[in-house]
Amino acid sequence: MIKCFVLVLSFRRIIVLSGDIKRFMNWLFPHKCIACSAEVDAYSTLCTRCFTEITFIDHPICRVCGRMFENQESYDQDEICDRCLETQQHFDMARSLMQHDSFSRRVIMRIKKATDYGIVKICAKRIYTKYPRLFDNIDYIIPVPSHWTRLLRRGNNPPDVIALKLADVSGIECRRLLRRIRRTEYQKDKSVVERAANVARAFVCNCEESIIAGKGIIIVDDVITTGATLNECAKVLKLAGAAIVKCVTVTSTRPSHKWYEPISSLS
Ligand SMILES: [Zn+2]
Ligand SMILES: [Zn+2]
Repeated sequence: MIKCFVLVLSFRRIIVLSGDIKRFMNWLFPHKCIACSAEVDAYSTLCTRCFTEITFIDHPICRVCGRMFENQESYDQDEICDRCLETQQHFDMARSLMQHDSFSRRVIMRIKKATDYGIVKICAKRIYTKYPRLFDNIDYIIPVPSHWTRLLRRGNNPPDVIALKLADVSGIECRRLLRRIRRTEYQKDKSVVERAANVARAFVCNCEESIIAGKGIIIVDDVITTGATLNECAKVLKLAGAAIVKCVTVTSTRPSHKWYEPISSLS
């Protein structure tokens, strides 16, 4: 009995001490806001001021690609944007957490440079609570794959990290069901047509088609711009028999007139 009492006391002391050590370490190395470096209470989070700077995706949005419309006030409800009306979208729907702007770009850079995975956890939780129905009837969460040469050079594939965190919060299995078989050029500064051509036939199934057939799948990427990469991935999955293919990204860009012209014709 006495031994037990001493054991409980020692255990409590260890807990108290570990709390002291934690406070001391926080004092020595204070947590900083991931965007502005202001002091915050927890590791890898945003201060209150920066949090208000995030432009979260808000209705009305395109029912298919999930982008916010340019003139929000012109729309009473979610409709389908011109881009989705013009293009054969192989995915059933795409949804993003925030608007791609100078602020959210910093968040994406932290994920890309593998400097901070805490922010990925925050984003994954936010995505899950923002779109809980999106995860209905989904069997697998899969990342957009990198080519092995890019993976070797960069050291990580950002969609992998986001997909794993989304799998954690949703309880859905994360699998790498796609493989990038061709090293594609960066999509930046390419038009819609050039982007689609750049990623055409760049992906194949990384498994037996029977694993995909009839399944609900969410493809994960960091950003949706024209949607060409996600559309190509969705096409491969649908051809393999996937029943539902949805896409999730951390940020989404607003449509740009530049996409519709070859870059060579821009001044
Ligand atoms: Zn801040
Ligand atoms: Zn759309």
